[in-house]
Order: sequence, then C-alpha cells, then structure tokens
Amino acid sequence: MSVNVTKAYLPPLEEYVGYLEGIWERGWLTNNGPLVQRLEAELSSYLGNSLVQFTSNGTIALQIAIKALELSGEIITTPFSYVATTTAILWENCEPLFVDIEDRTFCIDAAKIEAAITPRTTGILATHVYGYPCDVLAIEDIARRHNLKVIYDGAHAFGVQVHGRSLLSYGDLTTCSFHATKLFHTVEGGAIIMQDKALARKVWLYKSFGHIGDEYFSLGVNGKNSEFHAAMGLCNLPRVESFIVARRQLAELYRQELAGLPLQFPQPHEPSLAYNYAYFPVLFENEEAMHRVKDALGAEEVNTRRYFFPSLNKLPYHTGAACPVSEDASVRVLSLPFYQDLNPDDVRRICTLIKKALS
Ligand SMILES: *Cc1c(COP(=O)(O)O)cnc(C)c1O
Repeated sequence: MSVNVTKAYLPPLEEYVGYLEGIWERGWLTNNGPLVQRLEAELSSYLGNSLVQFTSNGTIALQIAIKALELSGEIITTPFSYVATTTAILWENCEPLFVDIEDRTFCIDAAKIEAAITPRTTGILATHVYGYPCDVLAIEDIARRHNLKVIYDGAHAFGVQVHGRSLLSYGDLTTCSFHATKLFHTVEGGAIIMQDKALARKVWLYKSFGHIGDEYFSLGVNGKNSEFHAAMGLCNLPRVESFIVARRQLAELYRQELAGLPLQFPQPHEPSLAYNYAYFPVLFENEEAMHRVKDALGAEEVNTRRYFFPSLNKLPYHTGAACPVSEDASVRVLSLPFYQDLNPDDVRRICTLIKKALS
C-alpha cells in the first residue's frame, strides 16, 4: 500500500460542519470575521500572548514581514530552507546574502553571520529548520550590535518551546505557515507573530490593502484569510499536543529501527528544547546512497521528499556565494513519511527497505 510523505489531519466532519452552520447564519465569509478573530485570540494565548495576525499563507506572511520592518538592500539568510524564504526576499526587491548552516542543526550558522554583514545589510531572515531552533540568543546579540532586524521563518516551528517560551516569540517577528502539509494547518494559511503593538497594526494594514473604510494609510496587499480556513484552525488547534505525542512515538520507533545504520539525524544544541517532531529527515553518507534508498522506497510506493533540495544559493534564477555545508546536506537528505496517524507497521516496513537498500 502506498505511503505519503505527509498527510493532512482532517477533524471529524460534524465538528467542521458546526462552524459552517455559524458561517451560513452570519453570512460573513471573510474580512476579519468572528472565526478569524477567535483563531487569532486562541493562537495568541497558545503562543504565550504574542500578537498574531492570521494570513492567507506563509509566503505572503514573509513578504509582509519584510515590508513592515522596512528592510532594503541585503538580507542575511539561510540557503537551507524552503524556496519561499529566498523568493520572498527577491520579491521584495532585496538581495539575499547566504550564510552557510551548522552541520548539527541545519540552521544558519550564527558564528558566520557577522563576517557577512556589509553597510547595505538591514536584516536577518533565518529558518528554524525542521522545528529545530536557530541560535536565537546569539542572533539577537548580533542584531542588537549591528542594528539589524530579525525575522524568523517559523513554518516548521509551531508548538516548539525553547528557554521556557514559544520559539515563535523570538525575533522582531516570526512568520508561520499553516499549509495542509504542516503540523498545525488551516488548509492554506499562515501567521505573523510579534510582540510590538504598533508593528502588529502596521502588519494588519498591510494585509488589508492599507485602508480602513474610506481612509487610506499605507501600501497594502491582500494577505487576509477566510472564516472557512479559521474554522479548520479552530478544529485542529486543541489537537496539536496530541499530534506531537503521537509523532514523538513514531520518531522513537524510526530511531530504534534505523539504529546502527550509516545515517545522521539533526541534533539540537538546546537540551531543554520541547520539540514538535514536525519532520523526520535523515542524512545518508552520500548522494548515491540517498538515491538508492529513495528509489527502493519509491518502487514500493513509499514517497519521500528531498527536503530541502536544492541549496537555495544554487537556484537557476539567483546564484549566491558558495555554502559547502548546505550544498552537501541538500544532496544527502531525505524526509521520510511522517504524520501522526502513520501506521507503526509502515515505519517498520520502511526501515526494513532502507536497511536492504543500504546493505
Ligand atoms: C511551507 C513553508 C513556507 C511557505 O508557506 P506557504 O504557507 O506554503 O506559503 C515557507 N517557509 C518554509 C520553511 C516552509 O516550510
């Protein structure tokens, strides 16, 4: 039987229909409706009272974030992320300056950031890769000393706690994606998470065409999300902790079954991390071994994903400086099937196939 690499959770249909009945009664479908407001309030309390703006996706959240922090010139960023991290920078007419990653966490190497800063650098945009935190304290310190803004792409980081607070509460702001493939999803959706009220108002205006009624304040775009998407979020949010528990058990099973093989897993620095088990990536010894496993699993209808590939300094439409650690990781990494209701027997079967392919 075929196995997907991710699978979106769908709540009991009656529960979602309950929200639909309310939408039908009110006839209020979008534009900051009551379910959007409620989801924003529930997300805010889940994230330790950060200010939350729900957006139509995680990519527009990144673009609005760059605009709202008035970044220009160069933005220091990671080459090991989903392509949207880099394209958001290019779309906002800024230049991505790639700084290589750490080989343990696959996040940007904070120790290499300072050497890359130039007089044209205005900000840092870093991704918490697979939900493992960037070195947020070191990055905060660098940003303060060089007067740079910090954006985190937290698309993988929902539900992660570090140093006793939500990982999404760090930086000048953090963006999130609630796409159907993510741990917590609203079908399509995203958010901008911040602490500063004036900034939150600016973000709200930017996502709402920059005007309130007949009063026009700023440039804007349509980054809003709908009542239907908020309803999915309200169904799924109370289940996030149970998703994490189920995923932790599956991750432990994978680790047990794969023990002793020539593989590498990400290793977070922070021992007190409360991790969300967003993905299950493995690094093989070389690209050839990765392909051998990918093909062997594919032949049994087990889907995997080269996540992330390519290293973003190698995109055909934008070439950045060499980043050897990222380039090497991107050709060896494979994300294995991983979602909360993945059958443990499938995990065992996948691991047997991997062992055979590597033997
Ligand atoms: C999914 C993802 C995005 C894009 O989010 P969308 O909601 O699909 O627009 C951006 N960055 C990272 C790291 C992602 O994983």
